[in-house]
Amino acid sequence: MGEFELIQKYFAGATPTRADVVTGIGDDAAVTQLPPSHELVITTDTLVAGVHFPDGTAAADIGHKALAVNLSDLAAMGADPVWFTLNLTLPSLDTEWLRHFSGGIAALAREFGVQLIGGDTTRGPLAVGITAFGTVPRGSALYRRGARPGDRVYITGHVGDAAVALRVLQHGLHLPAEYQTAVLQQLHRPSPRVREGLALRGLASACIDISDGLVADLGHVLTASGVGATLDLKRLAVSPAYESVLAEIGWELALTHGDDYELCFTLPLAHLPAFNAVSPRFACGFSHIGDIDAELGLRIRDEAGAPYVPRTTGYDHFRDGAFAPRS
Ligand code: ADP
Ligand code: MG
Repeated sequence: MGEFELIQKYFAGATPTRADVVTGIGDDAAVTQLPPSHELVITTDTLVAGVHFPDGTAAADIGHKALAVNLSDLAAMGADPVWFTLNLTLPSLDTEWLRHFSGGIAALAREFGVQLIGGDTTRGPLAVGITAFGTVPRGSALYRRGARPGDRVYITGHVGDAAVALRVLQHGLHLPAEYQTAVLQQLHRPSPRVREGLALRGLASACIDISDGLVADLGHVLTASGVGATLDLKRLAVSPAYESVLAEIGWELALTHGDDYELCFTLPLAHLPAFNAVSPRFACGFSHIGDIDAELGLRIRDEAGAPYVPRTTGYDHFRDGAFAPRS
């Protein structure tokens, strides 16, 4: 099977056919239509075997996650995802692997109505690069900048489960069986918070998706907005699975590991009534974890109200000192 046949068999037609795609896979480039008065939102992310997922990860999970991390970036911008391209580097032509990989991508693409419109296929060490495109009505994208003192800080869902899953897989952390399924799902099949991002347009003052860890990613919002924040660990939602090992692993992983793909957003108090009207539709749940203040930096209070400083110093914000937690 040649490259062209491979694309026809596993990718062309695997995802929804959208009316705004003039020409998708099959020509030298794709041609699409943008709705009037809309802006195009573009993001790209690459997953490399052994770096972004352990060797031996199921092909369907790799497909799902490669698209999910891109849709998560669009969600953080408040964008409506529409199309994506796929750059695939494969060590060999393994049809079973391709079938599962394509199935994983296609299922998520169908859930959010996004069409695969092109890509490139090459031979080499396994890597999956996706570029995803979304649309927003002009002027309505959510940015990292925009948080103001007095705004509340929220996250969707829970943080730390992907970290717990890796501990289970790589370090033999013991977790009750019923929780293992949930954290492995969070690691391998994160759900991009697209519907939530759309609902936050016009409400959130700033938004980011949590890929590098809550502390690092909220730090980007604070830096971009020129503000600080105080977080309360007693408000931070961890899952029942994380809760079951909290005494053993502490808060560190939830705060700094990342791979969560939840949204972290800030909300002006004036938008609280409108938020309360839409937030019951957040099936993933959400929690108010702290507040924006004028003093730069991030302050974290433990459950007793005492200053909490994460041990991890691997992030640029800590190294640069611009974001060192102060008490
Ligand atoms: P070219 O040589 O002009 O770059 P290719 O042979 O690479 O064309 O690709 C042919 C068509 O197949 C193009 O429309 C391209 O976008 C599409 N394509 C190639 N690889 C992929 C892929 N992995 N997923 C989706 N479409 C692909
Ligand atoms: Mg090409």
